[in-house]
Amino acid sequence: MSKSLLSDARRCYVCGTTLSLHKHHIYAGHGRRDMSEKEGCWVYLCGPHHNLSDKGVHFNPELDQKLKARCEQAWMDANNATISEFLRIFGRNYL
Ligand SMILES: [Zn+2]
Ligand SMILES: [Zn+2]
Repeated sequence: MSKSLLSDARRCYVCGTTLSLHKHHIYAGHGRRDMSEKEGCWVYLCGPHHNLSDKGVHFNPELDQKLKARCEQAWMDANNATISEFLRIFGRNYL
């Protein structure tokens, strides 16, 4: 399993709880989930901040966008890469 680019802690990235964590891949669909796994583009989220409530990232575009933008920046920092390199791998720019 790859290390998350956004957090070393095994706790919800939003609220910090350590209870009932789900692993959320930040970029999904069309091979991007596998790429997210490989590149460390994932975070732990508690059920309510994942997909068990309206404020969860799967139903909350604002939180989704925030994670996508933060992870894009973290990926570029970790790989000393540019936005166009990110685009080539993940297909979209979120910054
Ligand atoms: Zn949470
Ligand atoms: Zn998810």
